[in-house]
This record gives sequence, structure tokens and C-alpha cells, in this order.
Amino acid sequence: AKQQGREGLAIYENHLERRATYRSQVETRMRLALEQGAFELHYQPLVRTQDTNRIAGAEALLRWHDKELGTIPPDEFIDVAEETGLIVPLGDWVLEQACRDLAAWRAEGLHIPRVSVNVSGHQLLDDRLPRTLAQALKRHGLPPTAIELEITETTLMEREKGSLPLLQQLRDLGVGIAVDDFGTGYSSLSKIKHLPVTVLKIDRSFIQDIFTDDNDKAIIIAIVAMAHQLQLRTVAEGVETPEQLAFLRDNGCDLSQGYLHSRPCSATALRDLLRAAPRD
Ligand code: C2E
Ligand code: CA
Ligand code: CA
Ligand code: CA
Repeated sequence: AKQQGREGLAIYENHLERRATYRSQVETRMRLALEQGAFELHYQPLVRTQDTNRIAGAEALLRWHDKELGTIPPDEFIDVAEETGLIVPLGDWVLEQACRDLAAWRAEGLHIPRVSVNVSGHQLLDDRLPRTLAQALKRHGLPPTAIELEITETTLMEREKGSLPLLQQLRDLGVGIAVDDFGTGYSSLSKIKHLPVTVLKIDRSFIQDIFTDDNDKAIIIAIVAMAHQLQLRTVAEGVETPEQLAFLRDNGCDLSQGYLHSRPCSATALRDLLRAAPRD
């Protein structure tokens, strides 16, 4: 048993070592990718549940294909970016690129009400964020209502006290603020009420289980009712079937996002979708 324990420990140490090596590789390649402009933004449309031909917005999602490491999913490299602080320059790039893409679509006469950009916890510690965002909007001639920031419920709850002034500054600029992955972070109605937010994005896990878990049905109905009392818009994420969409529409959820409507696509592909969509 002793022998086995020692082996287990060795395997574990080996695992940690490999993991650390991988992380530092990702970090090195990420710095290079930032310098060389190797990151890309893809976009996933948000549509109205009442009329899914209408594109009400799009979420910007980072994509990275590295020549040495291959394609790395954002969940993975965002973690490393957070730990190393690289998320700050990367996040600045995302804001700049989203504004640039949006301005290009508008210059072409294409209509899209807003683009949502994910903001991670570390970025909310950087008090330059409101100015960086204001400058990007100005540079591209965009009104603040064109941008919505998505912050996860967990981040909002963890950072509640510390980042409230920054959050308020962002909101005062006029940009929208969405609570991402809502329902997973155990926040209470009274806490949400005091945050300067404009949108609740119902986490994908609830949408997935609509027809297998009666609790999830009840939770979605309660979230939508609560959101509307607080005058917040509701978005359902991860909508994959027409039945899920029908349930969300019938229960008053405003917007829907998911593979049912479109997978995240390149900026060019989103432009083509906008060209084909009826005007809002
Ligand atoms: P998220 O913000 O919750 O983004 C939604 C994720 O769900 C995206 O994964 C999207 O591709 C995926 N998705 C959309 N519709 C469906 C569906 O119908 N079914 C399923 N199964 N999945 C769907 P993705 O692009 O891999 O991004 C993962 C996470 O990485 C994001 O989760 C977000 O937390 C983070 N992320 C992505 N881009 C950025 C960024 O620019 N900045 C920051 N800070 N985080 C980002
Ligand atoms: Ca998001
Ligand atoms: Ca989400
Ligand atoms: Ca998520």
C-alpha cells in the first residue's frame, strides 16, 4: 500500500509538472500571438424569441489557433491569461476589435443594435478600463449603447464590494452590463437589485434541462419574472432546439442565443447574416 501511495504521488507530481510546463508554453505563445495579431474574434447572434429573424445583437468570442499548440479553446487560455495578467492587454484588444468590427458594419449601413464583450474578473481590477473603453468608442464613432459588457455572476459576487465603483463608472458611460451565466452563482434578488446591471443571461445549464428537470423550468420562469420586475432584459444562452425556444418565448424571455440560431462565426460571416436579416 505504501509503495502504491508513493507511486500515486509520483504520478501526481508528474501531472503537476506537465501542467505547469503546458501553462508556461501557453503563456509564451500567447504573448507572441498578441504581438503578431493572431487572435480572432468570432460572433454569435442574439435573436428575439418573438421573431428570430431579427438580430438583436451578437456576442464577441475569442478564437486562437496557434501554429505550435493548435487550436486552444478560450476557457483554457482565458484561465492562463487571468493568472498571468495577460488578460488586461488581451481584453483591451477584444474591446478595440469589437468596436472596429461594429463600426465597419455600421459604415456599410448594416444594422446591429449592440455587440456584447466578455470581461473577466481581473479586468475589473484595472481602473483604466472605463477610459480604455470610452476611448475605443470615441475612436470608432460609436455610441456607448452599442456595447454591452458580460460579467459572470460569480465574478460579480466575488468582487462585489471592490469593483462596484468601477462597475458604476462603466454603467455611467452608458454601456449595458449583462450578468453572464446567471443562476449558477447563488446571488440573491436583493444583491442583483443593487448592482448597475441591465441584462440577465440565463445559464445554458438551465436551458439544457428544461424538459428533464421541472426545477429548471420553474427557475427559468422565476428568473424572467424577477428580471422584468427589475426592468432587466433576459437572454437565454445555449438554445439548441425549437422546443426550448418555444418554451422561452411563451414564458417571456426576451432574447435567445445558441446553436439553434447560429454557431459563433467569423466577422465576415456575421456581416453576411446582417445583410440578409430584416431591419430591426
Ligand atoms: P460564455 O461567455 O458563457 O460564452 C458562451 C459559450 O457557449 C461559447 O463558448 C459559445 O460558443 C458556447 N455556445 C453558444 N451557443 C451554444 C449552444 O447552443 N450549445 C452549446 N453547447 N454551447 C454554446 P466558447 O466560445 O468556447 O467560450 C467559452 C468561454 O470563454 C466563454 O463562455 C467565456 O467565459 C470565455 N470567453 C470567450 N471569449 C472571451 C473574451 O473575449 N474575454 C473573456 N474574458 N472571456 C471570453
Ligand atoms: Ca458570455
Ligand atoms: Ca454565458
Ligand atoms: Ca460559461
